[in-house]
Amino acid sequence: MNRVRKIIHIDMDAFYASVEQRDEPRYRGKPLVVGGSPSRRGAVAAASYEARQFGIHSAMPSRTAYQKCPHLIFAKPRFEVYRAISEHIRDIFKRYTDLVEPLALDEAYLDVTENKLGMASATLIAQEIQQCIQAETQLTASAGVSINKFLAKIASAMNKPNGLFLIAPQQAEPFIEQLAIEKFYGVGQVTAAKMHHPIASASPLAQKTALTPIWAIALRS
Ligand SMILES: [Mg+2]
Repeated sequence: MNRVRKIIHIDMDAFYASVEQRDEPRYRGKPLVVGGSPSRRGAVAAASYEARQFGIHSAMPSRTAYQKCPHLIFAKPRFEVYRAISEHIRDIFKRYTDLVEPLALDEAYLDVTENKLGMASATLIAQEIQQCIQAETQLTASAGVSINKFLAKIASAMNKPNGLFLIAPQQAEPFIEQLAIEKFYGVGQVTAAKMHHPIASASPLAQKTALTPIWAIALRS
């Protein structure tokens, strides 16, 4: 029998926007986006949580963001700073495992099934990593812990910001069953809408041949 894997997904909270708020006290507590200016057809690369309350999100045209919030602060991206922080958090990950798979500057999967400190609890490792990140970078990250990458990534989004969520091995199957179909990768909004009636969750869908592979991938990946 295969040993159950312990996977952590770490995701920095509103990364670029949080870095700008960290480095410029006047930006703190304010709606802010990192990205191109509204006059130059720019787009939002990251939005602070204060900006998200106005319905602003990444990939939105900066002009639209500005219309939603006229006092929105636009910060220019400083990728060299983000890259340095990204390297720092990867160094933190490597204290626990070399099995690190970065997805972007601000998120990565860690396989801690076997880890350098011989720790049995992946949740405890995730908590320690969050504490190290906060102490060493003055930024927060959210963590998801589960048996595979698919579920760990979903888990990290459950309690954002500065959250931690565990989907334990025995919870994996019931968790997928009750998961809204939109959460599955590869199912776009149009497809999801078509699927919503009469089937709203993955469980009955999983019995239909069309989506059985997605179900299977979710538990295996
Ligand atoms: Mg992030």
